[in-house]
Amino acid sequence: LPEEFKLALPVMGQIEQAGFEAYFVGGSVRDILLGHKIHDVDIATSAFPAEIKAIFPRTIDIGIEHGTVLVLHQDEQYEVTTFRTESTYQDFRRPDHVEFVRSLTEDLKRRDFTINAFALKDDGEVIDLFDGLIDLKEHVLRAVGNPHERFHEDALRMMRGLRFVSQLGFSFEIETFDAISENHTLLEKISVERIYVEFSKLLLGKFRNQAIRFLVETECYLYCPGLRYYGEALLRFADLKPIMFTTVAQAWTVLFEQMGIGQKLIRPFLKEWKASNDLIQEVQALSWGLRVRQEHLLRPWEIYQLGLENSLAVEALMPFYNLAPARDEVAKIYAALPIKHLRELEINGNDLLQKFTLKPGKWLKDILSQLEYQVVTGSLKNDAKALLDAAQEILRAGEQN
Ligand code: ATP
Ligand code: MG
Repeated sequence: LPEEFKLALPVMGQIEQAGFEAYFVGGSVRDILLGHKIHDVDIATSAFPAEIKAIFPRTIDIGIEHGTVLVLHQDEQYEVTTFRTESTYQDFRRPDHVEFVRSLTEDLKRRDFTINAFALKDDGEVIDLFDGLIDLKEHVLRAVGNPHERFHEDALRMMRGLRFVSQLGFSFEIETFDAISENHTLLEKISVERIYVEFSKLLLGKFRNQAIRFLVETECYLYCPGLRYYGEALLRFADLKPIMFTTVAQAWTVLFEQMGIGQKLIRPFLKEWKASNDLIQEVQALSWGLRVRQEHLLRPWEIYQLGLENSLAVEALMPFYNLAPARDEVAKIYAALPIKHLRELEINGNDLLQKFTLKPGKWLKDILSQLEYQVVTGSLKNDAKALLDAAQEILRAGEQN
């Protein structure tokens, strides 16, 4: 057993001592069998949530209606979920009601793909009811049971499948693939938020290009907000170099470039995906930076506006355009900037008001930005006297016009 699982053994042991079954399940078992790094360890159990809470002194309810209790053990936390079936599905969406059961088999049957339906015992034995080990070896994504039924139960599974293609580089088993192609319209019923989670993971996967091709081929892209008319652009995007994106913002930036989505449309487009304002601003900055950078190396004023992180993120995209990233140059220019932020200017709005005894107004902001520009680009020293003199110059010039 790998270290992460060993740490959890006392938790498993306590559940078993209380007379219940407990297994490692889900993505972490799959990833361990693949030799990948794992993030979170999920435990499935025959104990009901109340029974789990009675066993452990420190628990947090994080989804008790779905049977999940977070168990805190030493410095780790484990999602412990009661075996369950999801028998009543409505509207092709995840059911609101789940039924807790005492049978592991029932629980594994409701899982999406064979490679996600393993259970691992504390002694290291792998329970593999659906020949997932063979699929793992052959790099195949196969729905558990009848794929049509499974995608009707929860259409999101199709998007999950596509994101596993991207993360693992697997291909769909033929019936699973056909079922996705035939049922892609069911994605209409799925909330944007859930699609967004999977699509973001898809964008960050190592085998993104293959996943994007399947997204188009199965026509699932038709039900991704805003992508409907961009099948060709998606395919061009899938023909780019297979370099991984480090952030979702970088991925959107390059995708928007392929789609011809300009600065103005970024916000409305990402709003449809219910993306956060932070992400939207990041993508806007990167898109601007990318356009500038394709014309010339980033200059101090541009690097100042983007900030170091976004400037480097733009550089990281250069290989897509057959340009060499200029990371060191950017870092050097950034380090040499006389100020990194407007608030580092030696004078502020109050100083200007005092000196010129004028009423506050738009002129303040205008002058400050002109001073900021001159300081950043090196034509003015960041020194109170020099700045006030320059401000006086600007005001005088303004009066003459
Ligand atoms: P990741 O490594 O990204 O966490 P994961 O496979 O663990 O991938 P989770 O969303 O964490 O994915 O779900 C944990 C497990 O729950 C899955 O491995 C799968 O067995 C099951 N599961 C999750 N979502 C669904 C779904 N929509 N339908 C069926 N089973 C699901
Ligand atoms: Mg997981």
